[in-house]
Amino acid sequence: MDLERPPDDCTITCRELTSFIADYLAGELQADVRRAFEHHLSLCPNCVQYVADYRRTVALSRNAYDDDATAVPEDVPQELLKAILAAQRAGR
Ligand SMILES: [Zn+2]
Repeated sequence: MDLERPPDDCTITCRELTSFIADYLAGELQADVRRAFEHHLSLCPNCVQYVADYRRTVALSRNAYDDDATAVPEDVPQELLKAILAAQRAGR
């Protein structure tokens, strides 16, 4: 197992690939970086597996977050903050 050595003909290393995953899944990689990323994936089974695991982890944590989001809408904390600030101002 040699994760540090990129497969032949790759412009990014496995380590670089892992640092790009979040942006890749968010669709925020620049086109040339994404090409290098996908090219690396086409040559490196280790990183394909890594991305699959990463995706599953993100999906799991997103599901957990969705449960929270249904119970507590996303805009509530901000509204709460405003209410607290308003109350503080009123108290002065
Ligand atoms: Zn790799």
